Amino acid sequence: MSHHVQDPQLAGTSAALFERAAQLMPGGVNSPVRAFRAVGGSPRFIDRGAGARLWDVDGREYLDYIGAWGPLLFGHAHPAIVAAVASQVGRGTAYGAPTRLEVEMAETIVRSVPSIDMVRMVNSGTEATMAAVRVARGATGRDAVLKFAGCYHGHADGFLVKAGSGAATFGTPDSPGVTPATARDTLTAHYNDVEDVRQVFSAHPRRLAAVIVEPVAGNMGLVPPAPGFLEALRELCTADGALLIFDEVITGFRLAPGGAQQHYGVLPDLTTLGKIIGGGLPVGAYGGRRDLMARVSPSGPIYQAGTLSGNPLAMAAGLAALRQIEAEPRVYARLDAMGAELETGITSVIRRRSLPCRLVRLGSLWTLFFRDGEVRDWRDASACDTARFARYFHALLERGILVAPSQFETNFISAAHTAADLARTVSAIGEALEAAHA
Ligand code: PMP
Repeated sequence: MSHHVQDPQLAGTSAALFERAAQLMPGGVNSPVRAFRAVGGSPRFIDRGAGARLWDVDGREYLDYIGAWGPLLFGHAHPAIVAAVASQVGRGTAYGAPTRLEVEMAETIVRSVPSIDMVRMVNSGTEATMAAVRVARGATGRDAVLKFAGCYHGHADGFLVKAGSGAATFGTPDSPGVTPATARDTLTAHYNDVEDVRQVFSAHPRRLAAVIVEPVAGNMGLVPPAPGFLEALRELCTADGALLIFDEVITGFRLAPGGAQQHYGVLPDLTTLGKIIGGGLPVGAYGGRRDLMARVSPSGPIYQAGTLSGNPLAMAAGLAALRQIEAEPRVYARLDAMGAELETGITSVIRRRSLPCRLVRLGSLWTLFFRDGEVRDWRDASACDTARFARYFHALLERGILVAPSQFETNFISAAHTAADLARTVSAIGEALEAAHA
């Protein structure tokens, strides 16, 4: 079947590709947020990336703060990662048998992440969280899992559940296709609300297999943990016999080599990883205490497998990224300094104009919330002015700066961003804020 573009002048452009795509893929995309639905307009189709920059098929250049949604700590097409993939690809792209690369990947992860004694590679963050929950249920013999409203852990059925009418009530499905029976095993609480979590535990003593949490929430915009929140989760889980799962798909190797657990000094029982450890190729991982991971097949009875798990191309790319980190441990201080520069610049624009906005930033992660006041959980985040955000987004895009096309996402600074890039970003954000509040 052929697809005719109405206006021949559009052929080969983002607009023409999106028109074709919309006939072929749901919403024209392979993952929803790419479609620009939250901000209006149609997405830019990307031709190539290098460092902190992207070019679309229309030849426009963008300074990129999406960073492939987290994997690109060193920016696009980093030479060491490109070389590692190129040298592996000629040796074969999949074997269905173990390789040295997998051993080196596991050694690097175990060496870096404080709570991980053993690890299993998978192909996405979704797979990692799904498997971690299975391990928690298999190990504890319990069914229920507590998650936080506004936290995202991939698209497995049990996670597509939002807060019901109160913290201690069982969840209801957030998506058609998730059965009420599945949703019933997912309890929800408010992020940063220890009292809420305490109530869930006291309403359902010894029923929770696990509490799963983004130790720094990145999927309702950036919401760091309040002081004591992670420590309280650790204590409540230990006291009840539930396992604590840190979903470090975003934060792993992003805040520090050992992720948020290293940054905050709180150790979970199980950890999920993804993004950076794949160097931009499709990768996830879950790991944790030896006694728990030893229960995974084939050493134990909890089944989990994958045709392309530990794929040699993905391992080569991921290892190249992790070696780059080990070669430059100061990269985190450098990213933090860049984040601080952006924060100072944007905050001073907000203050100067007394705008109802708030910049939240941790290391190289940042979100500009269109709301005055603190953002501690999904209740706060969902009160943002998303219409204003959309105007700001498009004003930035016109100025060649690409941020996440939704209020409820974090942005990513990479090691490839420069001081000049940040200065240009601050001044463009000043103009975009002006346009959004005009
Ligand atoms: N957990 C977290 C914290 C995430 O941010 C994401 C994706 N952004 C996932 C899990 C799911 O990962 P994936 O999209 O690779 O399935």
